[in-house]
Amino acid sequence: MEILVVGSVALDTVTTPFGEAREVLGGSATYFASSASFFAPVSVVAVVGEDFPMEALEFLRRREVDLTGLERRPGRTFRWRGEYGFALNEAKTLETQLNVFAEFHPRLPERYREREVVFLANIDPDLQREVLTQVLSPRLVAADTMNFWIQGKPEALRQTLKQVQILIINDAEARMLAQEPNLVRAAKTILGWGPRSLVIKRGEYGALSFSDGGWFAAPALPLENVYDPTGAGDAFAGGFLGFLASTRNFDEANLRRGVIMGSVMASFAVEAFSLHRLQHLTYPEIEARYRQFKQLAHFASAQGKAAVESAFVTGAGEGNRTLTVSLGTRYRSWSVGR
Ligand code: AMP
Repeated sequence: MEILVVGSVALDTVTTPFGEAREVLGGSATYFASSASFFAPVSVVAVVGEDFPMEALEFLRRREVDLTGLERRPGRTFRWRGEYGFALNEAKTLETQLNVFAEFHPRLPERYREREVVFLANIDPDLQREVLTQVLSPRLVAADTMNFWIQGKPEALRQTLKQVQILIINDAEARMLAQEPNLVRAAKTILGWGPRSLVIKRGEYGALSFSDGGWFAAPALPLENVYDPTGAGDAFAGGFLGFLASTRNFDEANLRRGVIMGSVMASFAVEAFSLHRLQHLTYPEIEARYRQFKQLAHFASAQGKAAVESAFVTGAGEGNRTLTVSLGTRYRSWSVGR
């Protein structure tokens, strides 16, 4: 299945405790496309200004990302400036310049209208819906957003959520959106507004997904080298949706695999500034890290072996003998005869 993404293509200035990157390639659609394109064909809808260095997207073209829907308009490119503290979990936005995005109304190239999987990456919720109205019959619509839009355009965002099946946001955004500090209650509130699944990214603490099929918790890989968390959320969404699109399966078990693939791609995004790590990533690296995640979260059942090993009988005489079976962390006892 082919994926359509609408989102920002940006020039970012980012400061982390490990350094600074000025006016580098960024944007929600850029990170998403560079991650998802490992799994499925991706078409981008976005706008850049005359000052945008188009050659910076050459690596996406080489991965066969369709950039026909990326318009170049008079004016300046979208810019975002942010910083992170040592915790690295939450970006502090210092400045957002919408620039050419302020007047942008996307017109989808004809072939984009047939796309079956749509990702509404972080961008103005009105623009997200403008794109949706032009897609003929998508099988899966997922979306992201952030505090800038939750606070700036709450009504427009609620309208978008009605048309979205999977919402992918971080924990602070979930709390802000639902106005509820408890994540489980926040998830229930948000699921009442339209989406049938909610994926909550929790940075170095992993990801949670909530849906009718149940709750799922994925770990994040403990990493030695984390330089810049920018784009981790979009790389996650790219791995998640790319995997679902390539397997053409949206059932609960596959959603869970998708959450792990999202976590795999996010773990790469944070290992370097801008898109450097995603730009030079290879399939064997992705496969190896997926296996690492599997190992990380694998544990044996508390029942089974433990029960057999530690069953014992106590007491003497008819009627007061007791069979005690260890179930790992609990014991159960039964009265037994001779
Ligand atoms: P994330 O995955 O949430 O870290 O996304 C980071 C990217 O989002 C950066 O490269 C920014 O250019 C972009 N971004 C930041 N603020 C906004 C915004 N208000 N609208 C659209 N994109 C944004």
